[in-house]
Amino acid sequence: MGALFKTLNDTGRLELTTQGPGETQALGRRLGEVMEGGELALMVGDLGAGKTCMTQGIAWGLGVDEYARSPTFVLVSEYEGRHTLFHADLYRVDDPLEIEDLGLDETYGGGGVCVIEWAEKADSLLPPDHLRITFTVTGPEERVVELRAGGPKHLALLERLGEVDLGRGG
Ligand code: ADP
Ligand code: MG
Repeated sequence: MGALFKTLNDTGRLELTTQGPGETQALGRRLGEVMEGGELALMVGDLGAGKTCMTQGIAWGLGVDEYARSPTFVLVSEYEGRHTLFHADLYRVDDPLEIEDLGLDETYGGGGVCVIEWAEKADSLLPPDHLRITFTVTGPEERVVELRAGGPKHLALLERLGEVDLGRGG
């Protein structure tokens, strides 16, 4: 079996290290598998840290069969899966009013799953019960991924994760 992780503590914080994009995708896939709809995942981390990579995994876990890439010409992409995935990338947006106009509240509020890259730009507009995923680049292929639940819905999500198999051999 591959390496398994389960160190969720009372504060709703889980941290693990991924070696290569496949492991970040595997973690995302597991997250997507246990999502029930209405989740809000806020991704924070530098360019190239792995936000889109994780989103791809979440999409797979939701049963989306398209390839999730960062939205380029639109700020929010929509994918049909077990729950509809809305993928927003706020990299090019600075005006809070423009972010408000995206109507992101209707995505998770309407039972979809909403993933936002560069979510720190929208912090004040978003509800506290979200899953914050913070990526830190610690090597060419290594990322420290911190998952932090901001309220009961996303704490329950992390509890449903159980053991995460990143597919490591050995
Ligand atoms: P972001 O959306 O945060 O800008 P991407 O997910 O688009 O970043 O890109 C991450 C890049 O880092 C990809 O080229 C991927 O192959 C590479 N990479 C290397 N190691 C990892 C890892 N452990 N997790 C995620 N991506 C990784
Ligand atoms: Mg990206």
